[in-house]
Amino acid sequence: MPQFQNFLHYTNALNEESLYSKLQKLASEEILRFCWETYGNAAFASSSFQSSSLPLLHLISLVCSEMPVYFIDTGFHFSETLEFRDRITKSLSLNLKIVYPEISKNELLGRHGEYLYRRDPDLCCYINKVSPMSKIADSRKIWISGLRKDQTLHRSTLKLVEAQPNGLQKVFPLLHWSKKKTEDYMAQNNLPFHPLHHHGFKSIGCAPCTRPVDSNEDERAGRWGGMQKTECGLHKRIKTRKGVK
Ligand code: SF4
Repeated sequence: MPQFQNFLHYTNALNEESLYSKLQKLASEEILRFCWETYGNAAFASSSFQSSSLPLLHLISLVCSEMPVYFIDTGFHFSETLEFRDRITKSLSLNLKIVYPEISKNELLGRHGEYLYRRDPDLCCYINKVSPMSKIADSRKIWISGLRKDQTLHRSTLKLVEAQPNGLQKVFPLLHWSKKKTEDYMAQNNLPFHPLHHHGFKSIGCAPCTRPVDSNEDERAGRWGGMQKTECGLHKRIKTRKGVK
């Protein structure tokens, strides 16, 4: 278990600027260790359990395997993702926590009709991902995520530490990793790929909003294909949509 002697001191003292100043000198695994040893259960990670998630999950398993890792089960995932999640959790001995939307698929259908993900994907993501995850985040101080700057335009603008409302701070230990560094780390540590990776699925989310990409396409080009949307909203500043369920 982490040492908590500094917990109150740091949660009171480290604002975005001072936490950044502390973490920016550290390697990715040292960032994870510092967050866990300093914040304990007020720190958590989230993962979509796709191929590019493996370096962060592997580092967590090495330095802070008790840190809770949240996976949002929207009910729209590929069965291969759920099987991969369970296999990786077992092999890396992760402390997996599964988050579900507050309403069932039948309730979603009754309130919003079929194919909400096509008609209003932002609302669908809000109900199925952002809202349930914000309930977890509300009671925590540190949210660890494996986003990289080179993945999307939005991610290229992120800082190592991003302050959120309610005192939460998001920390991205792999923010400056390149695609090549990610692949090299996976090869060096013999980490597996998501079963659909070799069928062209380089970035994988919910099945209705994910397609395979060609070798000349960006790895995230297959997410919300044909739409302007590039992010589910989890990693933009969390906005509440009062009364929406
Ligand atoms: S990724 Fe698609 S199916 Fe999943 S929550 Fe978002 S819009 Fe809905």
